[in-house]
Amino acid sequence: MKQPIYKILVLLVLLMTQTEHVYSFGFHAHRKINRMAVFTLPPEMIGLYKTHIEFISERSIDPDRRAHAVQGEAPRHYIDIDHFGEDPFEVMPRKWDEAVEKFTEDTLMQYGVLPWHIHVMMGRLTRAFRNNDMDDILLQSAHIGHYIADACTPLHTTKHYNGRTPDERGIHAFWESRLPELYAHRYDYFTGRASYIHDPLERAWELVEISHLKVDTVYLVFDSLRQHMPEDIMYAHETRGQAINRVYSRDYSRAFHDGMNDMVARQMQLAVRAVGDFWFTAWVNAGQPELEPLHGRSISQRLRNFLRQEEKSLASGRNRRSPYDPE
Ligand SMILES: [Zn+2]
Repeated sequence: MKQPIYKILVLLVLLMTQTEHVYSFGFHAHRKINRMAVFTLPPEMIGLYKTHIEFISERSIDPDRRAHAVQGEAPRHYIDIDHFGEDPFEVMPRKWDEAVEKFTEDTLMQYGVLPWHIHVMMGRLTRAFRNNDMDDILLQSAHIGHYIADACTPLHTTKHYNGRTPDERGIHAFWESRLPELYAHRYDYFTGRASYIHDPLERAWELVEISHLKVDTVYLVFDSLRQHMPEDIMYAHETRGQAINRVYSRDYSRAFHDGMNDMVARQMQLAVRAVGDFWFTAWVNAGQPELEPLHGRSISQRLRNFLRQEEKSLASGRNRRSPYDPE
């Protein structure tokens, strides 16, 4: 009796993991990036962020929870920039209005709006600082951290986000979830002090470009290993709760990770630093408001209730728009 149940479980898991778009750096990595970004902040900011570090890291994954349920959320997590030809960064206007003019809003929504959404989030975070609204500062900080981290993952910048061929499917979750889960605890996250970004939209585009330049290497290493590694060594089965997962084995994961020469670590470090830079810049642009009066406060009951309700409604698949997400 064991064999058929096992096979059904594996099949179910495979079906579950072969969804069209994967929106996440991996929950583990997102939490870690937001957490470590707190330590890049200057003395005027770090107190508030340290007090609420659990909130900042835990809420980093809200945007992924929404991606499947809230209309218009999914394209904020990626940009398939290579859809736009051989020299996409030459062709694509950096500013939203000019990009809409050139390619239409429908097309941009279809291929992803990640860098522009980071810019939108920057506006929200700056406004939250101006209003001295602690709930909003913490929530927008957590959420912008998510999108910035997504911009630091190469496979969020390509139409080949989950393999160029059927054989390569699964590469997305492998790179951004499995590898950080296995190795992120070994990385060094010391990135220095956050610094001011003169042009946040331009910086968001730079992150996308830095990440996109790595797509070829990701595939090159992945494929060259596949050619030399027998299938029974490439894969392993792992039990998670009730489910049995077919995953890439530790040997293959290690070889892929090493073959990319610490790319995952470098991209996570890039994300940590960028998240700190964006938080710091929003605070400076808001006029460097005094945050100390907020230190003793807790997250409001209203926000806690809202987040609890949202989790329930997302779990039940109902569409819901956040009051903290006004557009
Ligand atoms: Zn995401």
